[in-house]
Amino acid sequence: MTKPQISSQLRRSVTERAKGCCEYCRSQEMFSTQVFSIEHILPISQSGTTTFDNLALACQGCNNHKYAKTQGRDPVTLKITNLYHPRLQVWGVHFTWSNDYLIIIGLTPIGRATVETLKLNRDGVVNFRRVLYETGNHPP
Ligand SMILES: [Zn+2]
Repeated sequence: MTKPQISSQLRRSVTERAKGCCEYCRSQEMFSTQVFSIEHILPISQSGTTTFDNLALACQGCNNHKYAKTQGRDPVTLKITNLYHPRLQVWGVHFTWSNDYLIIIGLTPIGRATVETLKLNRDGVVNFRRVLYETGNHPP
């Protein structure tokens, strides 16, 4: 499948809207060694379009784990549910931080399924959150 061309203007607009943070795990692009991806929330393979309202800023880890998925299993109810949609839903409704700000906790079936499917608490990300927290740069 050919990746659609995303103009530099569109990339800039998506990045600005996200304030430079991964819209799933809240990692900050300015503290990443890799350029973040402009992710299709509804994948192209499911007729998703390369338009401002179907794009999200995502770190490489979240983008790789999400791939073309739009659903995941809620580990509590074991039901398949939609993943978090950054354009239609509010992060703080579906997720919260643990008291030490190291772990993202899913508050809803959508939040829990997204934490599991995108592995929002990957070891490397959690370790990096700890370092950033201690330097006053986390949470964003
Ligand atoms: Zn991420």
